[in-house]
Amino acid sequence: MESSRIKGFFKLSIEERFEIVTMDKGLTEEEKAILSGKSPFPMTLANSMVENVIGQFSLPIGIAANFKVNGKDVFIPMATEEPSVIAAASNAARTSYDLGGIFTSSTGSIMRGQVQVLDVVDPHAAKSRIYENKDKIIETCNLKDPTLVQLGGGVKDVEVHLINTVKETMLVIHLIVDTKDAMGANAVNTMAEHVSPLIEKITGGRVVLRIITNLADKRLIRARGVFSTRDLGGEEVVKNIVSAYEFADADPYRAATHNKGIMNGITSVVLATGNDTRAIEAGAHSYAARTGRYRSLTTWEVNHEGNLVGSIELPMAVGIVGGATKSHPVAKAALKIMGVTSSEQLAGMIAAVGLAENLASLRALSAEGIQSGHMRLHAKNLSLMAGATFENIDLIVQKAFEEKDIRFDRILEITKEIQKEG
Ligand code: NAD
Repeated sequence: MESSRIKGFFKLSIEERFEIVTMDKGLTEEEKAILSGKSPFPMTLANSMVENVIGQFSLPIGIAANFKVNGKDVFIPMATEEPSVIAAASNAARTSYDLGGIFTSSTGSIMRGQVQVLDVVDPHAAKSRIYENKDKIIETCNLKDPTLVQLGGGVKDVEVHLINTVKETMLVIHLIVDTKDAMGANAVNTMAEHVSPLIEKITGGRVVLRIITNLADKRLIRARGVFSTRDLGGEEVVKNIVSAYEFADADPYRAATHNKGIMNGITSVVLATGNDTRAIEAGAHSYAARTGRYRSLTTWEVNHEGNLVGSIELPMAVGIVGGATKSHPVAKAALKIMGVTSSEQLAGMIAAVGLAENLASLRALSAEGIQSGHMRLHAKNLSLMAGATFENIDLIVQKAFEEKDIRFDRILEITKEIQKEG
């Protein structure tokens, strides 16, 4: 792929965009047909994914353009119902493109599984006994996943935490598992269940919960980028962006919405690639609160040249195998479009989108406000709510815009007028 920086990408037809984005990406005809909506998603597949299936729920997939991640141009698929999210990420990425784009690093693909042990009479001594038997515990767990072990993954270490609850000192054993290119929940949960009888034997306690934690603090992704102050609207706007970040970092009420904006971008890519959105959301928010106060997941500063520098750090437990990533044809196509060959690369691109999305919100909030950017798509949604037929939507939106009045009651009137005339 030569460049993700395509002027007027949003003005192209759906077919033209599809052609550009999927060219030379190795998508099968079936993947292309399902992604483009030409073939329906098979009900048999839907029925094999979840229980009690009666139908399907579709969402649009759009492409975030203008992204350069670790020196490589990339188109990033985003699945979302929210207007402006994809345009916002693309616009913010444009302001970093000529300054090198976004760079990422990862702490690896390590997840934690928790095994809760109750009724331990000597928790401190039991902790020592667990460490004495560490190799045996690791070996027992790894027997359950030879594929993962063969790939260089599996349990690498064991930690023992003594958690003081209202009633007792609980012994909680953490299995430190390298899950490689998988998100890893099934792998870790299976190991945690399998090793429990051994843990009970060593501790003399009773194992109850055995499950992964989504606070994946050993699977952090970091992304940073320099964004052009000139393209963002000048020094005053950039000053306001930095103070908007400082506000979020100091005030949980603002941080909640600041991080929600970041997750608009992140969750859309996580969903498009068939990954677990709830796992990523849980990890992000618990990590944002790790100091005891809920804070910003990003930081924003001004560099020597006067440009804006942003960075983001959060857990990113995503996979390119496992879960729905390989069974859902659209997820498979999304991964091919991004050209990722490891979970780490995917995590980096997702973090890059989160960073850009945050900048787009902060820029709009610091300048004209976010409503004006939302209005055209918002007006479209309101027209649909008012019962507009597809052929009339553009006309209704145009009229509402000319009147500078985007309210549901007025759009309802316009819709009635136009559809009566027709
Ligand atoms: P999985 O079990 O479908 O696949 C992982 C397995 O694939 C590994 O155990 C390994 O044996 C094999 N594998 C093959 N090639 C691999 C490679 N290159 N790297 C790593 N493993 C490879 O999936 P998973 O990732 O263990 O679990 C993810 C699923 O678990 C998601 O659907 C998620 O929604 C679900 N889940 C999440 C939670 C949670 O987050 N709290 C809890 C339960 C289940």
